[in-house]
Amino acid sequence: MHSNFSDDPGNNNLKEFLKTKDNEFEKYNEILSLMKNCSLCGTPLDFTYTVEHPKELIREEASCRHCEIRIRNKLFNIQ
Ligand SMILES: [Zn+2]
Repeated sequence: MHSNFSDDPGNNNLKEFLKTKDNEFEKYNEILSLMKNCSLCGTPLDFTYTVEHPKELIREEASCRHCEIRIRNKLFNIQ
């Protein structure tokens, strides 16, 4: 009877990999929270999302009411 599944090095690699991913995700979240406010005046940004057909893309736009500037204009593929 072999029961060495928990000693499988592949398993440990996966755990390490997930740990790394968590850290990256936290970093990403920090960056996102920084970008939720206008870098010029600190006012919370207004986000608008529009779906563009037929390419199935979501356009994300962030703008500051105070400075009247558009900060971000990004496209996400939702396919
Ligand atoms: Zn602003």
